Amino acid sequence: MFRIGIGNDTHRLVDGRQLILGGLRIEFERGAEGHSDGDALTHALIDAILGALCEGDIGLHFPDSDSQWKDANSMQLLARVVWLARERGFVIGNIDATVMLERPKLRDHIEAMRENLAKTLSIDNGCVSVKAKTGEGLDAVGRGEAVRAHAVVLLKQISS
Ligand SMILES: [Zn+2]
Repeated sequence: MFRIGIGNDTHRLVDGRQLILGGLRIEFERGAEGHSDGDALTHALIDAILGALCEGDIGLHFPDSDSQWKDANSMQLLARVVWLARERGFVIGNIDATVMLERPKLRDHIEAMRENLAKTLSIDNGCVSVKAKTGEGLDAVGRGEAVRAHAVVLLKQISS
């Protein structure tokens, strides 16, 4: 049996913050504002997995009113959600994600992001797709004010 889930996330880009995507720190003069580390790609993926499980969303599981999650490493949050899926009898089949960011170009970082995510998801790199697009100079992404990510995930029931 299969389950499908979708997630998306947006963070404002501001001075004095690090830019982290898929658990990878990317050199840039600005970073993502947010209660946790602001990793929009990983947050979109967490929402996709929770959605596939019909388990609400990231804000329900890791509320920003809880100081426990302040500056949290989002890869650790992802690991907890993967564990939750396993508890419900599911493993990750594959994921497909798109990061939207005007600058910097992400092309050279895609492989490292895929590797990071695959490790935390306990699946093959070949089951983790990360794509990058710009906002073509339009909207908040295009003006360089935000980073946005979309993710789709397929869960597979663990055969017993
Ligand atoms: Zn987020």
